[in-house]
Amino acid sequence: MEEDSIQIERAGLKQVQLAAVREILRATTAALPLQDILPLIANVTIIAFDALTAWLMLQEDESLHTVIVRGKGVAQLANTTTDLTGGVIGVAANSNQPTILSSQSIDPADPVLGFLAAQAEPVVLLPVQAAGQVRGLLGAVVTIEATKDISFLVTLAEQAAIAIEDARLRSEARTWRQRLDAVVEQMNDPVMVYDQQGTLLLLNATAEQWLTGRGVQVGDTLADVVQKTGLCHADDTLLEWDEMAGVRALSGEIVDNLELKITLLPDQSTRYILANAVPLRTNGTIDGTVVVWHDITARKQMENALRTSEARYRRLVQTAAEGIWIIDQENRITYVNQQMAEMLGYDEVELQGWLFSDFIYPEDLDGVGIHVAEWQQKTTRQSECRLRRRDNSLIWTQSSTSVIVDDDGQFIGMLSMFANITSRKEAEQERIQLLDREQAAIERLSRLQAVTAALARALTPQQVVAAIIEKGISLFGAQAGVIAWLKEDTYTLEIVSSFGYTQDIIDTWRQFPVDTQIPTAEVVRTQQAIWLESGANFVRRYPALASINVRMPIGAFVALPLLRNDVSIGSLGVHFAAPRTFDAQDRAFLTSLADLCAQALERAWLYTAEQQARAAAQDALRIRDAFLSIASHELKTPLTVVLGQAQLLQNRAMREGMLNDRDQRALTAIIEQASQLNKLITAMLDVSQIERKQLAIMRTSLDIAALARHLVTNMQLTLEHHTLVYHIPDTPIMVEGDAMRLEQVINNLLSNAIKYSPYGGSITVDMVQRDTTVCIAIRDQGIGIPADDLPELFQRFYRADNAIEFCIRGTGIGLYVVKELVTLHGGSISVESTEGQGSTFTVCLPCNGSAPQ
Ligand code: ADP
Repeated sequence: MEEDSIQIERAGLKQVQLAAVREILRATTAALPLQDILPLIANVTIIAFDALTAWLMLQEDESLHTVIVRGKGVAQLANTTTDLTGGVIGVAANSNQPTILSSQSIDPADPVLGFLAAQAEPVVLLPVQAAGQVRGLLGAVVTIEATKDISFLVTLAEQAAIAIEDARLRSEARTWRQRLDAVVEQMNDPVMVYDQQGTLLLLNATAEQWLTGRGVQVGDTLADVVQKTGLCHADDTLLEWDEMAGVRALSGEIVDNLELKITLLPDQSTRYILANAVPLRTNGTIDGTVVVWHDITARKQMENALRTSEARYRRLVQTAAEGIWIIDQENRITYVNQQMAEMLGYDEVELQGWLFSDFIYPEDLDGVGIHVAEWQQKTTRQSECRLRRRDNSLIWTQSSTSVIVDDDGQFIGMLSMFANITSRKEAEQERIQLLDREQAAIERLSRLQAVTAALARALTPQQVVAAIIEKGISLFGAQAGVIAWLKEDTYTLEIVSSFGYTQDIIDTWRQFPVDTQIPTAEVVRTQQAIWLESGANFVRRYPALASINVRMPIGAFVALPLLRNDVSIGSLGVHFAAPRTFDAQDRAFLTSLADLCAQALERAWLYTAEQQARAAAQDALRIRDAFLSIASHELKTPLTVVLGQAQLLQNRAMREGMLNDRDQRALTAIIEQASQLNKLITAMLDVSQIERKQLAIMRTSLDIAALARHLVTNMQLTLEHHTLVYHIPDTPIMVEGDAMRLEQVINNLLSNAIKYSPYGGSITVDMVQRDTTVCIAIRDQGIGIPADDLPELFQRFYRADNAIEFCIRGTGIGLYVVKELVTLHGGSISVESTEGQGSTFTVCLPCNGSAPQ
């Protein structure tokens, strides 16, 4: 019976236990929280297993901690903790089967079980393990009887393990979910989750913000989203169904950075996005996808701006009027624009990779080269440089070079721009050349002027030659020069002057025949200049002069004929140390020099001849004057005696009547001719005295009016064919003068008036005083004087042509002496005359100016 009752009891107990296990299972399946399930297990252990005490410990780090206690000993067990790796409980928890401890085997010092050591009932310890990991421990104090079948307790421990693991997993999942949600929500990128049908399940805040404006909402399909948002490729092309990130992810693909474009409302702003999508799998089956759009609008806009500016810059560079190239750090060309390629005569592509220095004229490299130090302060370098073209020709450019640096400021190359300034440069150079030529012409001209001026002063052939050599040849850059002239024999040339040659050369060539084979003789023969622009030429043509070439190397040589009236008179040789060409101006200059030389030589020769003739004439005159002086002196004395004696004889004869008529006429003739002779000799003596500056006057105060009146009236008495009219003031006109010499003046003019009026006529004498001058004019109606003769009339021995034609005798001395006498009196004499009509001679003298008319 007892057995039966036990059986029944057991059967009852089993029922209770089964119900308890169901309850626990339900709680577990319902995913009740751990704090609800754990008490349930503890309670069920007490009730359904009839335990005295039940407790549960949970693993926390390296220890086990009591979280729930039911039955006896709550106070002792609550919140106890034990080491997981040691002790009875640690070992039991790590074991894979239950541990049954008798109370005797319990260590009273055990932190958890110690208080049970004195009890009679055994202790069952059940490990709570999940996935091979210790999660906790279920402990129970039971009857000895109960230890016989502890399968129920094992089930409870297993159930506890499941519940604990479930709760742990749930809590973990919840935590992760919360974290993920937070991340997704906080993401600035739109995130969308679709299910396996492509239905939108979830949008994060950013996605909502972007898409609700376009009417997108949870439940929309992928196709709806594309349609509502106008999603398309970044280049505006249509986004096909199977290109969509979500669609591709749902078919298992991981989509990376698909570039798309979307226009948002309400501001119509365009956003560029990179769409990324991953398939979501559960147990290997794709049951959804997450799509994330990464906003790259800012980057895209920057890229676009960059692209636009680069395009603009490229267009600018391509169409620039200047040539442009870009050089890398290795000095190689990495880019040229079309203009640059054309400038250099190449294709744009051909130039890639060349060293830039291949195209720059070496001397100008500095201007385009890299000077880092300089560029640290100033990033652009301007210079003028020459570029070498494909055909090797050079063009002048104005270049401007800048350094290209990367974002870190490191030098990565340079950019140069070139403007073609060749035509400007050529014009400049042409101008400089013109200026040079002009300058050279001016110099030559001034040299010629200097030569001409020097020649104007040169009177002798020697001076001429010196002037030509000093001012002309030596200044022309010549090393030596020589002038030879043809001697009278017209065969021998003689060096008359030279410079720069050594004395032995001159001595060797002092004289040479005109037919010698040397340039300075050849030009005399041919009258053609010789221009030799190199020494080799010279020696080949004139071997006779090879020795000169040895002593004084000849670079160039010019020989020019000196011509007078197309006849050679000599030659000019010019020797240059260095070879040189003679341009038209050089030739013109040297030819002019030779012409000047010839002219000046001719003039010098003429001058010399004239000087010699003049000296000879002066000698003759001097001899004549000396003779006249001596002769007149020597003649005067005997003649005076002859004339005096003849006049005495005539007086005595007239007085005593001792001579017959014939003898008287003879005596008269003697006296007349002797008087003539006397006059002539007197005149000659006067001339001689004038020449020797010995003629003098004896001044006394005299009445010139009275003197003239007396002479005129005397003269009147002797006239037969002429009438003499005079107008002479009655009042005295006083002059300081020599009465005898003034009488000579007046008589001479009166005699001439009579003599040169061979057909008679009237002769008028007018005397007029004005202030302190008295003038006597003697006018005749005679043969007059030709205009040509008037200027010379008062010259010694000068006679007018018509006086000779009319066979009027004379010597040409009278007026010469008259002029001298008038001049000695401080007066002047002038003449007015018309040939064939008559002449007027006027003498003016200073007088005492008081006498009124
Ligand atoms: P002479 O009468 O002896 O030749 P003069 O010296 O007196 O020398 O005169 C110089 C020249 O001047 C004359 O030869 C003559 O040609 C000219 N002559 C001088 N007086 C007259 C005159 N009254 N009428 C024309 N010719 C004159």
